[in-house]
Amino acid sequence: MSIKSLTLDRRSFLLGCAAAGLSGCGAATARPLEAERPVEFSLVIRGGRLVDPAQGVDMPVDLAIEETRVAAIGPNLRGRTVLDAAGCVVAPGFVDLHSHAQTVSGHRLQAFDGVTTTLELEAGTTQVAAAYARVGAEGRPLNYGYSASWAGARIQVLDDGRGGGRSLLARFTDPAWQREATAAEEDRILAILETELGAGALGIGVLVGYAPGTSLGEYLRVARLAAARRVPTYTHARDLKEVSLGTRMDGAEELVRAAAETGAHMHFCHVNSSSGRQVDRVLGLVDRVRREGAIVTTEAYPYGAGMTSIGAVFLAPEQLAARGLRPTDIVYVPTNERVRDAEHLRRLRAIDPGGRCIVHFFDETRTADAALLRTSLFHADTIVASDAIALVGLRPGSEREWPIPPDARTHPRTAGTFARSYQRLVLEGGLSISEFIRRASLLPANVLATAVGGAVRKGTLAVGADADVVVFKPDAFRDRATYEASTQVSSGVRHLVVAGESVIRDGTLVPDAWPGRPVRRA
Ligand SMILES: [Zn+2]
Repeated sequence: MSIKSLTLDRRSFLLGCAAAGLSGCGAATARPLEAERPVEFSLVIRGGRLVDPAQGVDMPVDLAIEETRVAAIGPNLRGRTVLDAAGCVVAPGFVDLHSHAQTVSGHRLQAFDGVTTTLELEAGTTQVAAAYARVGAEGRPLNYGYSASWAGARIQVLDDGRGGGRSLLARFTDPAWQREATAAEEDRILAILETELGAGALGIGVLVGYAPGTSLGEYLRVARLAAARRVPTYTHARDLKEVSLGTRMDGAEELVRAAAETGAHMHFCHVNSSSGRQVDRVLGLVDRVRREGAIVTTEAYPYGAGMTSIGAVFLAPEQLAARGLRPTDIVYVPTNERVRDAEHLRRLRAIDPGGRCIVHFFDETRTADAALLRTSLFHADTIVASDAIALVGLRPGSEREWPIPPDARTHPRTAGTFARSYQRLVLEGGLSISEFIRRASLLPANVLATAVGGAVRKGTLAVGADADVVVFKPDAFRDRATYEASTQVSSGVRHLVVAGESVIRDGTLVPDAWPGRPVRRA
């Protein structure tokens, strides 16, 4: 579209929406633009460099917002509130497809990393309608949304009555839900997922890597359901054949086969950690089925360690060697202690199977390992996604404290994935800022468009788009979170606007800003 100042009337909204290929902007009654009348917008972001790959824009220009939408793009716009963006990039806020940190503290860490929409899609949630209602009542700084949880549906069907009031997380390592299901049980699992899709879930999260006893047939049925409902699935893949001789199916082959056979959009979660040292083979498979027309998207985070429950089936002591891991590569997060040996690991798994741990599968200081990480991150169309983890160690009642209390811990990817990816891809890797914004905002918004079943007004700042905006200093946007100091926020984000409201202003959190809105299937 051409870049021009548009006065804010219904007609200009429609023009902007049509130009951007957006829908749902409402009916318009055309009337002439009143060009002479000076227009004052509610918010103007002034003097920045607008980078919006969806519009092919990279130029100095002002951005105006009215209520929750982008209202105008042009020079010398006037606003009742003006945010200074001199020396900064102004871009559509980052869309994180993979965040388990759906808490206020998690959202705030992600805000400083440039994220405006953060979604729990890999694990998903049970009782989707209730989850949206609860979080809507509590309020969140960022936009949020959920997929339907395949693991949750399995726990309901296969582990029913055994939960004893334990949370889903606590039951997560229980082998009862991980076994092969009968045909009748599969029917019930699928029926639950179908109900959740009807309640607005953004597709189906499939943690098949945590339940290796399940059948390929069930995985294909889940993919067929997703294809029929035209929603994506988000898979934590089963083990690769190189790391688990007993695996029923190579995880990457299973995923691409489901995409090819069912036509479902299969999203491959954290292709970095799921591929390990086989990243070339895995990405080769993905490329091949893509060329043949299958829809497979990938995501990666730029860290050499993962984080999960210490009781996860693939962290059993006898499983580690095949993965090139030793017990000492695992750090138990609640006490911040490194696991000493197999016996220590066995004990921790028995005492606290749901306890968080960090698993160092790559040594980022080694050239060869760093190169493997770069391969997944730089691969064509890899989406930046954090796999953020909710903070542990917060005292009850301190969830909304800011700054975050010093005892709280998480994986540094929660706070730093987007800034660190920017460092790797742009400052070190030579990609353009526009290409980074494409991978951090536009491509994930495209996945989301499939999930909601229509256009989304995210991933672009075209007139009519949602006013989710990140304003950052291009030479100072960097991650500061480390494994030791995991809640240090990224530096360089000067302003963050969500649905037209400032969450970060002049580099400082606005502590009473709760503009986050639900993103759900129509
Ligand atoms: Zn995962």
